[in-house]
Amino acid sequence: MNTPTFQTKCPSCGKQHTYSTENPSRPFCSERCKLIDLGRWANEEYNIPAAPGSSQDLDAPPH
Ligand SMILES: [Zn+2]
Repeated sequence: MNTPTFQTKCPSCGKQHTYSTENPSRPFCSERCKLIDLGRWANEEYNIPAAPGSSQDLDAPPH
């Protein structure tokens, strides 16, 4: 067998695993780690503070 394989580190959990083009979750070691990393990105987006001025009294009735 001459299949080129090498060990790589999962960016999510840091675990050494065999990099394979057959792994749909690469460079992560598993689907789970891929989802964890995606969740991390989502959390960062949610942490962006709300746009300033959204709570201002913009809908005061014109009198
Ligand atoms: Zn992992």
